[in-house]
Amino acid sequence: MDRYKCPCAYVYHEDKGCPEFRNPPGTAFRDLPEKWMCPRCGYEKEYFRKMEAEESTVKTGAKTGQGEEMAEHDVAVFRPYPFVVGQKIHIEEGKRRGDWEVIGVSDDTVRLKCPISFQEFEWKRFCYLVEEQTGRQWPQKD
Ligand SMILES: [Zn+2]
Repeated sequence: MDRYKCPCAYVYHEDKGCPEFRNPPGTAFRDLPEKWMCPRCGYEKEYFRKMEAEESTVKTGAKTGQGEEMAEHDVAVFRPYPFVVGQKIHIEEGKRRGDWEVIGVSDDTVRLKCPISFQEFEWKRFCYLVEEQTGRQWPQKD
């Protein structure tokens, strides 16, 4: 069973499936629906990359055995992008490539409208990379 990693660091485990979207354990990544997206950030399947068998989800890969103990790691910090209505945006890659205007924002979705075709769609709000911190205590409780 393989694992696939989203740019936001979410990892899809084929042996666990995706309970958020009711994809049962054992669902191969390639068998996920085309429209499937990262349950954490909303990125589409094409952004995921297959992980090597020995690759840890943590860059330094320091094994504590427990996985629960806090230690210092290199950590990529993400934050939901602060969309505002009326904002003009450009998406560089993927199926939604192009220019869009933000016409609605909720806690977990953003509504976009194409200024040319006036086509609209709702997107899960995604996160963007804020910074890569070294020597950050990880994991930390909220
Ligand atoms: Zn993601």
